[in-house]
Amino acid sequence: MARYGMVVDVTRCNGCYNCFLACKDEHCEQAHPGYTAPQPMTGQAWMKIVPKERGQFPKVKQDYIAMPCMHCDAPACASGTNGGVYKRADGIVMIDPQRAAGQQEIVTKCPYRVIYWNEQENVGQKCTFCAHLLDAGWKEPRCVEACPTGTLIFGDLDDPESPVSKALASGRAEVLHPEYGLGEKVRFIGLPKNFVAGSVVFGDTDECATGVTVTLVGEDHTKTTQTDAFGDFEFEDLPANKWFKITVSAPSCDTQELEVRTTSSLYLGDIVL
Ligand code: SF4
Ligand code: SF4
Repeated sequence: MARYGMVVDVTRCNGCYNCFLACKDEHCEQAHPGYTAPQPMTGQAWMKIVPKERGQFPKVKQDYIAMPCMHCDAPACASGTNGGVYKRADGIVMIDPQRAAGQQEIVTKCPYRVIYWNEQENVGQKCTFCAHLLDAGWKEPRCVEACPTGTLIFGDLDDPESPVSKALASGRAEVLHPEYGLGEKVRFIGLPKNFVAGSVVFGDTDECATGVTVTLVGEDHTKTTQTDAFGDFEFEDLPANKWFKITVSAPSCDTQELEVRTTSSLYLGDIVL
């Protein structure tokens, strides 16, 4: 028996919504008896694409986080549902359309907010990893099959040769909200973190300052970089809400120092030497 999981490589996602549409094609207005009631054409996103914009003009980055149900080992949505929400032996968390009928409160039990209420069917609904297809011999859900960039990596967590096990073995995958402590079986590579960027200019010539040393020092971080051909620098993957000192120095110029706090991703503008 397989134990299914997914890794979402955020660095590969271009926000094309193919996964979302494949899910719609598979589930909208068609029931899969024993698995799911029909998904309505609008108002639900079993595979939700969450856009994340970071930075300020002209240094802006756009990421997309593809977010299905996390198929938690300890699903918060299942408590008190009398079997309305249950976990299969392969780890897939399911909502039984009959037993969970009328239990509107399950929508708010999920801290990831990936359960949607279907008024017409009188039941909560969410991603099933296309369990009806896996049981019929498919190797992956429709969203994974439809993704053109390899963002969605799916397979058997107990098979060390499966794509998902190999992605997890990279050590780069993390839980979206570890503070929930639900044993989430969907993990993410490259979740967008805060960055600090800026541009360095020589005051006397008004030229881009190329090859200037920029150092960032914080509680647990020391990073050094050089400005590029446009005088730009950037420090990625910084923790949120921490203070950092940025030092910009070049021979024969006064050193510039700035204190920044990573309340968000920051573009510091022109720093004049
Ligand atoms: Fe339940 Fe939410 Fe976990 Fe999915 S992500 S299993 S809906 S608690
Ligand atoms: Fe991202 Fe793949 Fe979904 Fe397109 S299909 S939005 S690339 S996860």
